[in-house]
Amino acid sequence: MNRDLKSIFYAFVAQDIEVYTPDDKENCLLINKLICNECGAFWHTSLLECYFCSEINYYIYACTSCGEIYSITNSSIKCVCENSNSRLVKKCMNPECISNTDSDIARLTIIKKGVFALGSSFNLSLMHCINCGGRDNRYQSYVVYVMNVDKGDDLSKFIESNSVEKDSVIIFKHHNESHILYGFIIYGSLEKQVIDLKFSSISSIVDILFP
Ligand SMILES: [Zn+2]
Ligand SMILES: [Zn+2]
Ligand SMILES: [Zn+2]
Repeated sequence: MNRDLKSIFYAFVAQDIEVYTPDDKENCLLINKLICNECGAFWHTSLLECYFCSEINYYIYACTSCGEIYSITNSSIKCVCENSNSRLVKKCMNPECISNTDSDIARLTIIKKGVFALGSSFNLSLMHCINCGGRDNRYQSYVVYVMNVDKGDDLSKFIESNSVEKDSVIIFKHHNESHILYGFIIYGSLEKQVIDLKFSSISSIVDILFP
């Protein structure tokens, strides 16, 4: 992999984008992101949802005695209420969730240190879109090429020599004294195919490719 491609590779990884190098080509990257089928929002695979009501995990602890909330990373501290029955558990924050309204289920989840306790069977990977509630997701993918404009290459020559296919993304990279400027086109789109270096980071390009 050439250096320009490599630096873009890690810039995408830093933006939570999955990046691959295609088996049959060395001059491009394959990037993709799981998105909601309905609204196109990022699908957060690392988030957990409540098995009972689908509420997402807010990574907080609640006192089983007084309800006080703590955003701590361990449950060994004691609640300010100092009630002897007090335990801090990772509970579901939806007040209407059956894990909060049904005393039997509430007791069961408290024994297991809360709905969102590590390894608890009361939570599962996010099954719905946190933006619209949609239940379907899909991968949005792009083939990405990087053209270092400082090498003086001509765009149409670059497209031809790299066998760039329609709908691929070509990222332009230019060293401007102290910093790097980027631009991009989606090859074959209706927009004018010109080299316009208006971005100072890959994250701005990611925001446009995966809106
Ligand atoms: Zn719940
Ligand atoms: Zn308490
Ligand atoms: Zn959605």
